[in-house]
Amino acid sequence: MSFATDTKQELCEIRDKPCCELAELAALLHGAGALHIGRDGPFLTLNTETPRVARRVFTLCKARFGFTPELRTQARKRLRRRNTYQVVLPPGRADKVLVECGLIALASDGLRIRRAVPLSLLRRKCCKHAYLRGAFLAAGTISDPGKGYHLEIVSSGQEYAESLAALIQKLEIPAKVVPRRESFVVYLKESEYIVEFLNRIGAHQALMALENVRITKNVRNNVNRAANCDSANVDKTMDASRRQIEAIREIEEGMGFSRLPRHLREMAEKRLEFPETPMKELGECFSPPISKSAVNHRLRRLVEIAQEMHRKKGE
Ligand SMILES: [Zn+2]
Repeated sequence: MSFATDTKQELCEIRDKPCCELAELAALLHGAGALHIGRDGPFLTLNTETPRVARRVFTLCKARFGFTPELRTQARKRLRRRNTYQVVLPPGRADKVLVECGLIALASDGLRIRRAVPLSLLRRKCCKHAYLRGAFLAAGTISDPGKGYHLEIVSSGQEYAESLAALIQKLEIPAKVVPRRESFVVYLKESEYIVEFLNRIGAHQALMALENVRITKNVRNNVNRAANCDSANVDKTMDASRRQIEAIREIEEGMGFSRLPRHLREMAEKRLEFPETPMKELGECFSPPISKSAVNHRLRRLVEIAQEMHRKKGE
């Protein structure tokens, strides 16, 4: 089974606090549901290949609204296609759920569709976390950490994607949005932020698995470091690298790596990939390897560029 499926499985076992049920349900319906306006009123269908996600919607709906939605199973038509499960909130039942979950608003002149994250449901921190859990269950995926660090949540609407990214940013996790074909993808790249996100949504086993891979990689990279440095030196290295990473992130956000000369762009990417590696070893991560003083020079240049950006912003 994939790492993403394992992670979702783990999340489906979490017991929501009563205040969080509505938040998680809202995210599941918004992220995986399709809203229809029929003759008898609005209704919603939700398709998923993960039976547990269907069951989760079921359970939350029942706990919160006291009725069970309809469930339809569509057998796979072609080989290697998985069954899909369709959850239906039928007309007559759906509108109360949709209004309370912040997907629609009933106004005197009819019905309005609400496209952004319903912040009014998310005043508490635990409910914010529950909402993100639902959003990930509905439309998220995460790479196997052995193959790289990537977590994303796909959305068909730009406004929703941006409001979701803003919600994640509120938790000091710098999520970004990128358009992809017909949709918009909210994503996280750096392992430390993915770990933090998993922590917030309650995927602790997935988090441990990812940390294990991360630690193994770091140990491999830093095999000589501990022996050579006393702790004061390590602290100094950490401080310096923290400053460099801050600068690199500012550059990435302010002007993008694409405007950097190639050698600096490569340096920036390597530093983000190996945040704690001392300069000498960092130089060895290049092919061909570069000297410690070249690494030092390039990192200093990146910090200067960030400072220049600051100055210009201040003018
Ligand atoms: Zn809550």
